[in-house]
Amino acid sequence: MNLLVTGAAGFIGSTYVRGLLARPGGPRVTVLDRLTHAGTRDNLPDRHPRLEFVHGDICDPVVVDRVMARTRQVVHFAAASAADRTGDGDGGFVRTNVLGTQTLLDAALRHSVETFVQISTDEVYGSIKAGSSPEEHPLRPSSPYSASKASSDLLALAYHHTHGMDVRVTRCSHNYGPYQSPEKVIPLFITNLLEGKKVPLYGDGLDVRDWLHVEDHCHGIELVRTKGRPGEIYNIGGGTELTNKDLTALILDVCGEDWDMVEHVTDRKARRLRHSVNWTKARAELGYRPLHDFESGIATTVAWYRTHRAWWRALKQREVPT
Ligand code: NAD
Repeated sequence: MNLLVTGAAGFIGSTYVRGLLARPGGPRVTVLDRLTHAGTRDNLPDRHPRLEFVHGDICDPVVVDRVMARTRQVVHFAAASAADRTGDGDGGFVRTNVLGTQTLLDAALRHSVETFVQISTDEVYGSIKAGSSPEEHPLRPSSPYSASKASSDLLALAYHHTHGMDVRVTRCSHNYGPYQSPEKVIPLFITNLLEGKKVPLYGDGLDVRDWLHVEDHCHGIELVRTKGRPGEIYNIGGGTELTNKDLTALILDVCGEDWDMVEHVTDRKARRLRHSVNWTKARAELGYRPLHDFESGIATTVAWYRTHRAWWRALKQREVPT
């Protein structure tokens, strides 16, 4: 069984692939990754009998066709997710997330791929006033990133409706855990504090997010790949809703620091965001539930960043993408 995993030099994809490779008798994995500023080859084993690494772009139809020809299933993580550093502006989101996804879907269709798992985000539902978004929630993305992810979800599902392709979509909360790029909020706060620098808290700090440990997310994805149904969307949540202020307090506490290390930054956008997914469908159909509680998850994450300084220092110093 050959599995193509795109974007697996990044945070979540690499966690997913390391998990597959650690499992005796697991699938052979081909990783396709462009190694942008968000991805590093160091996130995956140098060598493994069941791993092949292809340095390439999901928007390149030639390389995509070549890897798809020997693929039975696809798990598609590759995405432009951060403030763009490629010089493409917001067009970078459309290029990778929309055009890249379509390039993969076309090749998957041509080569009669068995299953295509599209990894998406709760941000496609937009900010909600209260409660949690179920899978039927209208799509109301509010950023160029989330708009491009919503577009790619719709494209993927259209290949199911039009061509009968077995496409499954997952939408998750904000992830945290080891190997996350230090430009994202939790690793940024942890690594700043480890370097004796202040951490920026935007606005009143009352935006709310649901936090999901990356290993719980990968477990949920594996359940969707192996037990999910074609054409279905599955939310994967973490069960820990926190305001940014509460999150900051917890990280300060684990790092042994206090509020003097917080720099309050005026949020000119004056928004109050709330993202949270309802994951009862994944629980009922697939038996999914998160196993990490946030307090111990954040403590082990801080411990990981403490002992992997060379890893994150190299990423913090990296400026220009390949
Ligand atoms: P990441 O930024 O850490 O990794 C993305 C990877 O994709 C990198 O290795 C990068 O090199 C690769 N990549 C980017 N453009 C590419 C291209 N054109 N061709 C080939 N490879 C390319 O991302 P992540 O946080 O691991 O997120 C993975 C997926 O999960 C994304 O689809 C993202 O939208 C989704 N997601 C992430 C979160 C989160 O909290 N991190 C939350 C919800 C959804």
